[in-house]
Amino acid sequence: MPGGVSTLNLMMNKALLLFSGGQDSTTCLFYALEHYEQVATMGFAYGQRHAVELDCRLSVLSEIRRLFPDWRQRLGSDVVCDLASLATLDDNALTSDAAIEAKAGALPTTFVPARNILFLSYAAAYAYRRDISTLILGVSETDYSGYPDCRSQTMESMENSLSLALDRPLHIVTPLMHRDKAATWQMALELAGEPGIQLLVEKTHTCYAGDHSHFHPWGYGCGQCPSCLLRKKGWEAFCRSR
Ligand code: ZN
Repeated sequence: MPGGVSTLNLMMNKALLLFSGGQDSTTCLFYALEHYEQVATMGFAYGQRHAVELDCRLSVLSEIRRLFPDWRQRLGSDVVCDLASLATLDDNALTSDAAIEAKAGALPTTFVPARNILFLSYAAAYAYRRDISTLILGVSETDYSGYPDCRSQTMESMENSLSLALDRPLHIVTPLMHRDKAATWQMALELAGEPGIQLLVEKTHTCYAGDHSHFHPWGYGCGQCPSCLLRKKGWEAFCRSR
């Protein structure tokens, strides 16, 4: 039985990163490449309206290979899982044209029920025969949208459930769990320097609305959706602290 969410897997030194092409998972990719000898990446096509992030993942991987020779050899296989049926199960604002909004006392309409649970299960299925016992993902309960499947408690429970279901220890590592967005930018700077910050700004996509045409100091996006506002707020706090 695993003893909670781990910070490092010393046994295999291989990790599988859930990689969307956004700021958080790209920062986690920097973290993974710094701490693990081999890093595989997995993305998901689940009918998201911001499917442009799937193209951004490839740009990010390509840019990392170009900019960071020491990390290049650590980048392993990359796979995108087709979960298109997820969009048929629920009318949330990420997989339908429902309005992006948050009402008092309710989860935001951008909440995709069970998304992270499914993603982790698919990742576990991929990892099983590849001797990968560490899954990394960029969830946070510090500066987030209130999604219950981003909480530390959910991750610990999933770690236990997957380890039981596979009958072997599976570790879930969440480097951003206790960092706000400003601290996430700072972590990226410490791991990847100015080139890493520039890569995040220019190559990643976070905007829920899928707007990848308007460019701001903090990156592409509509500038209005909750995801853009969070990224902008974190960027401005990060810049003030430098
Ligand atoms: Zn936006």
